[in-house]
Amino acid sequence: MKKLTYLLIIIFFISGCATAPRKEAVSFGGVTRSINGVGYVPASAVIQSYNANHTWDPIARKLIIEKNGREAIFCVGADAALINNSIKKMPAAVKMDSGKIMIPASFASLVLKELFPPPIISTRRKRPIPYKGKYAIRTIVIDPGHGGRDPGAISSIGIKEKDIVLSISKRLKSYLQKEGIKTILTRDNDRFISLWRRSHIANENNADFFISIHANASRTKYVNGVEVFYLSEAVDDFARATAAAENAALQYESSSFNKFKPKSAVAATLGDMLSDENRRESIELAKCIGGGMSKSLSLRDRGVKGARFYVLKGAQMPSVVVEVGFLSNRKEAMKLKDKNFQQRLTKAIADGIVLYKHRYEKTDGFTRPR
Ligand SMILES: [Zn+2]
Repeated sequence: MKKLTYLLIIIFFISGCATAPRKEAVSFGGVTRSINGVGYVPASAVIQSYNANHTWDPIARKLIIEKNGREAIFCVGADAALINNSIKKMPAAVKMDSGKIMIPASFASLVLKELFPPPIISTRRKRPIPYKGKYAIRTIVIDPGHGGRDPGAISSIGIKEKDIVLSISKRLKSYLQKEGIKTILTRDNDRFISLWRRSHIANENNADFFISIHANASRTKYVNGVEVFYLSEAVDDFARATAAAENAALQYESSSFNKFKPKSAVAATLGDMLSDENRRESIELAKCIGGGMSKSLSLRDRGVKGARFYVLKGAQMPSVVVEVGFLSNRKEAMKLKDKNFQQRLTKAIADGIVLYKHRYEKTDGFTRPR
């Protein structure tokens, strides 16, 4: 009978003590209270804050806080605690106050923090673990179109394509480098480079992508929007017109054009095979860049198109021409000249490239043979 009474008392205390502290949903710092000049914190707040388990022995007035096999044992009235079986002195004794077990706050925050390290919650943007596999995107060559004696398209108020695309390309380099991608520009100043040389720079550097940045022009003034091209023989009329305009840079390099031609039939076949293999990837890359630009800047999405761009022809990796807008459209030309707009546009392009990079790496290069 005596034993049963004890048992009932124990059950009563355990259930009372085990549930009561959980109701106090409070943060650790907010509930610190001073008793006789010493800062105390309720055990329930400590348990909650460390997300630990606990057992309360009402007979011995002993509290065990446990987490991941580590434990701290406190006794009401004792000014020392047993931390993983070693005695640690506390600045004051554990107290009962209005039915709550109170632990010296400094001890709870310093010693217990070490015992139960909290999960690290980073407020900074989590960077994904860099992919180090066979299909890692390490190097990107960005090609600011035109330059030097070749101004590219010129708007009615004299905004030159070569200047706009250089500014965007430089910004893009800085964005991509922050993402840990080695980024090479085919030109970083106002100079002329032949079309064949541009993709050659990408090949020489074993670039994983080649991205040529351009601004568009149309005889029809109202035409606007962004579009991204990949190399293809099958083209529609609009794409043909754009390619013709961009390929017009050839007129500045008549003598060097021959260097671009494959030297033999074998080289030509090899070039075709490479471009076939890269086509699907180029289309995916184009979609990521074009979609990102139009969505985040509310620009008209003119889509992803195939065209015969000489600048892409020699590239031995997924490669695209990004047309960032129409200089022939006055409104769009003014936007493209605006540095703030350029920055936002660049971010959208960079986000598109990074999105593609992650997909490419995750799927081991989409269609790449193993
Ligand atoms: Zn151009």
